[in-house]
Amino acid sequence: MNIVVLRKWSPNDKAELIALCNAVDRTYLSDRMPFPYTEEDADWWLGMVGLNEGKKGVFRAITVDGKIIGSVSIERNSGYKNEGELGYMLLTEHWSKGFATDAVMQICGIAFHELNLDKITAKVHDPNIASIKVLEKNGFIIDSHGVTADIKQAVKRSEPPASTTIIAGPCSVESEAQIIATAKALAQIPQVTMLRGGIWKPRTRPDAFEGRGEQGLVWLREAKQESGLPSATEVATPAHVELALKYDVDALWIGARTVVNPFSVQQLADALRGTDVPVFIKNPVSPDVKLWIGAFERFQKAGVKQLAAIHRGFSYYKESPYRNFPLWEIPIELTRQLGVPLITDVSHICGNRELLLPTAQKALDLATDGLMIECHIRPDEALTDAKQQITPDELKAMLSALAFRSKHSGSVERDLAELRGEIDDIDSELLQLLARRMEVSVQIGEYKKQNNVAVVQMDRWKKILADHIETGQDLGLDPELVTSIFEAIHQASIERQSHIMEN
Ligand code: PEP
Ligand code: MN
Repeated sequence: MNIVVLRKWSPNDKAELIALCNAVDRTYLSDRMPFPYTEEDADWWLGMVGLNEGKKGVFRAITVDGKIIGSVSIERNSGYKNEGELGYMLLTEHWSKGFATDAVMQICGIAFHELNLDKITAKVHDPNIASIKVLEKNGFIIDSHGVTADIKQAVKRSEPPASTTIIAGPCSVESEAQIIATAKALAQIPQVTMLRGGIWKPRTRPDAFEGRGEQGLVWLREAKQESGLPSATEVATPAHVELALKYDVDALWIGARTVVNPFSVQQLADALRGTDVPVFIKNPVSPDVKLWIGAFERFQKAGVKQLAAIHRGFSYYKESPYRNFPLWEIPIELTRQLGVPLITDVSHICGNRELLLPTAQKALDLATDGLMIECHIRPDEALTDAKQQITPDELKAMLSALAFRSKHSGSVERDLAELRGEIDDIDSELLQLLARRMEVSVQIGEYKKQNNVAVVQMDRWKKILADHIETGQDLGLDPELVTSIFEAIHQASIERQSHIMEN
């Protein structure tokens, strides 16, 4: 999977750093970077970065699938302390895949937060169109021009989000001290709107920690009172609903393992009939949009009005770095059909801390209405889902690193994502058709060879092309386009057939 993860440099990166700096295309790089890039150069850089990280700048390795493919940094200007300058490089084979855009987006967020900058600038040599596009996509604006001179671009800190729901809190309520300390810390983060805490935990194997039950509800209510944040928990049975409401839980969610079972969903809908509690419905474990929609219909029929969807990823046969594969098109389809708000549970999608930021950004770009993020005052000691939980401080940093888009641009992105998916499918069909056509052409080549017929038969080709142009015109396709496509295909066929003749 191609997810860009920025990570801090470590002394163990020396060999990869040397390889990167010697392999990277230097056409547009500053000549500050030595060539050939030696072990001493790497020692200097890793030492410099270690000393200055978070002070004079933020410095990150750009990684995909755990491999370093580039470097991106923002360094504080020595003159204007609240301005920083961006620099990045990426191995050529990874250009044009959106990686640089993602890396720049992430580093700007990190720098605005960690260096407390107001403005970030970048220098680009003006023939470097690709880099200009990367910067423009990240909101940089060109502020001076020159034919051969540098183009300076700048981006300013974006406004904090207004209406995004951010639900944060531990996977499980474990103790009074844990939930209260977590809730109080979360209440200090302005974007956080709701406190989550699991009371009954659906565990894959028996004998694991299954939640504190009613005792946990007492602590959750205290945490809510002390922090001022409304609370939410998962319910799986009518008895859970009754208890949760008894202890003033403000919103309930239906877990992924419960939504797969229409009997359970119906019981819960019946238990909530006539109440006005907001209910969030997680997607079922299996990628089945109808099952998910069915759950909404059951609650709608029971008169529950405040409904939202939580996307937490799906159990899926493909191997991936995610704990639960996102299959973004499914929540997009659901919100398109039902028009309910969408909250993205990045913690259960990712299953680890590293992927949280890029995945949350992706969700925001696809116009999610909120995020659910598991937070724990001491994540490593968590009784459930330790690997994916982060501290409230880490959440704060992550939220300031995210680019929250306006609703409008978000829904544009979402529509685009859908259309792009369609284009991808069509392209893949085109490729398969092309491959099949090529196979037939090879068979014709063999036949021509056996029967001593010339490869190119000009009359036949001219007639075919004329026919295709005419058919294309009926379909609204430009004759020039049809000509160039079929000329290219014909040329490739001739080459294959000639090859057969010669061998
Ligand atoms: C949870 O939110 O902690 C949980 C168990 O999630 P899911 O139902 O998505 O697995
Ligand atoms: Mn969890």
